[in-house]
Amino acid sequence: MVRHHQLISLWQRCRAEGREQVEAIELSPELFVQVVVTPFQERGAAGYVVIIQDLTQVRRLQVMRRDFISNLSHELRTPLASLRAVVETLQEGALADPPAAERFLRQAENEVNTMTQMVDELTELSQIESGQVRLRLVPAEMASLVEVPLERLRPQAERAGVALVVDIPGDLPETLVDVERVQQVITNLLHNAIKFTPPGGSVRMSAAQREAGDDRASEVIIEVHDTGIGIPKDDLTRVFERFYKSDRARTRDKGGTGLGLSIARHLVEAHGGRIWAKSKVGKGSSFFFTLPVASD
Ligand code: ADP
Repeated sequence: MVRHHQLISLWQRCRAEGREQVEAIELSPELFVQVVVTPFQERGAAGYVVIIQDLTQVRRLQVMRRDFISNLSHELRTPLASLRAVVETLQEGALADPPAAERFLRQAENEVNTMTQMVDELTELSQIESGQVRLRLVPAEMASLVEVPLERLRPQAERAGVALVVDIPGDLPETLVDVERVQQVITNLLHNAIKFTPPGGSVRMSAAQREAGDDRASEVIIEVHDTGIGIPKDDLTRVFERFYKSDRARTRDKGGTGLGLSIARHLVEAHGGRIWAKSKVGKGSSFFFTLPVASD
């Protein structure tokens, strides 16, 4: 009845050796199982019990964990290598040249900052993922929510020569949110938009109310649009994964950990919202997310 050759040969081996056999078998790319074949005797007749256990999910988690660890060590290796180079250059004589020494120290400080940020973001991500972050939900007005992130990032936009435009209608309903967490989402999106937009470009933040279907409450949809370098189509969903950076060759000099959007996605989903992106390479990107409206 079974045509799968690995299953058949497992059973044949069990018959030949008279002992239980265990093997992990990939039945298809989406189905990974563990098979146990056990012989038994009853009233002189020989039989075999075959137990097939679906381990697809377990394996997916194992692969994720492996990728995560290899990404993490890769991401730490770069700043560490750079830090080592700085220390060696100083040891080899740069200390005697104060202007150069100062430059190298600044570079060392940058690398330490990058690693610190990465560790902070990892801690944050692991707390969010393990459900340790409790949201303190309160009704909040959109205009006041965006104020803090906008003020924080305005100097950066000015330095980058990027115009920051805000279009939040005054009559939007209040949303039910954890203020600091949502401000963090907005900060991450604005920060990216500014970072990936060349001088002379613009970043526009807007919001609108959207009536959801009959059985769902209405929501506010927030958009951060930029006229920056854009994201290739295949990367649009992947940028929300941990450590994922689109097109490393173009974005290498921008710094960053690849964790910001992953954190943003978790926080938005914890609020019951969704987050997604649209983009055209060379034209710009739009990031959208939704927040539930506070009922009166
Ligand atoms: P980081 O910005 O720290 O690298 P993120 O998780 O915030 O990490 O973003 C992941 C990647 O998504 C970035 O490295 C970049 O390749 C891409 N990306 C995010 N936002 C934008 C944007 N507005 N324009 C172009 N690329 C973007």
